[in-house]
Amino acid sequence: MKIQAAVLEEFGKPLVVQEVELAEPRAGEVLVRLVACGVCHTDMYTASGVDPSGYAPTVLGHEGAGVVERCGEGVSLLAVGDHVVTLFSPQCGECVHCLSPLTNLCMSIREQQNLGYLPDGTTRLARDGHPLRHFMGTSTFAQYTVMPEIALARIDPEAPLDRACLFACGLATGLGAALKTASVRAGSTCVVFGAGMVGLGAVAGARLRGAERIVCVDLATERLELARGQGATDVMHGGEDAVERILEMTGGFGADYTFEATGNVAVMRQAVEAARMGWGLCTVCGVAGRGETLDVVPRLLITGRRICGSSFGGLKGREDVPVLVRRYLDGEIDVDPFISHRIALEDVNRGFELMHAQDGIRSVIEF
Ligand SMILES: [Zn+2]
Ligand SMILES: [Zn+2]
Repeated sequence: MKIQAAVLEEFGKPLVVQEVELAEPRAGEVLVRLVACGVCHTDMYTASGVDPSGYAPTVLGHEGAGVVERCGEGVSLLAVGDHVVTLFSPQCGECVHCLSPLTNLCMSIREQQNLGYLPDGTTRLARDGHPLRHFMGTSTFAQYTVMPEIALARIDPEAPLDRACLFACGLATGLGAALKTASVRAGSTCVVFGAGMVGLGAVAGARLRGAERIVCVDLATERLELARGQGATDVMHGGEDAVERILEMTGGFGADYTFEATGNVAVMRQAVEAARMGWGLCTVCGVAGRGETLDVVPRLLITGRRICGSSFGGLKGREDVPVLVRRYLDGEIDVDPFISHRIALEDVNRGFELMHAQDGIRSVIEF
């Protein structure tokens, strides 16, 4: 079929919205009609050419939500008409990592996905007879996409898809970091560095776990206001003395849990230093630049602080994303304030511009 899609033709250049070919789903694959898709930092990062593992041409986009239109041979997890959220982090349910409760890093299709192919090593996207690669196994800046069934989470059809799409990446990552990776205890003190989509999700997750005090640190007053709306009890502007100020606020000890959601390694260090002696856990969610390292004084670890990382919030997508969407429907998670702009696919580059200007949290493409 012929579809409209936003193609990254060349690094550092605007995406080109155009007609491309999408082939039918093969065994284990599903055709999804996209209804909405968030514009995320990772899309812009790849488009810029800074990402060393990036490739072009490709159809970008990975924060999609839509409806299953057709199922390939042998598909058993989904049926036509199901409402789904796309998962760049799949859950096959069978690999050694899927079988372990300790990680969400499914191994089954990783290799091909990283190269821009579906699990059988080919693509369903083409232009003028030449294959186009799939981005993050999702390619959701398009009217339709073909994806493996193990990379789609079936959600309650009552959930509006323009909100549900945020659970495909940033929001779920932040929520999961607090709910699952750190598993924040009730009554604890949390500090969240960064009030973008991931950080705000972590604030909401800490609130859902019953944290008593949630401090959010960011440079933008506007974002800190959003953090308050998600449950932050205190907010502060970041800076070199941020750790000092946090120690002051916490009787000199630091926080039970800290979360880093900026990708800046200097901030990561602050997040480690702001964690409490004895048991403070620092969860790193931000993605640092290539070659950058985290500088930590080992004594901080000897005296009981711990550091862990969190990819997609430690969530096993097919299992955990529908639960988060349910909690949203139950009124526990306030998604609307995150959607700052609604745009058409043709305006996808404007979505990048808004993000670059730090205007709002999320632009959502509506198809
Ligand atoms: Zn993303
Ligand atoms: Zn797996």
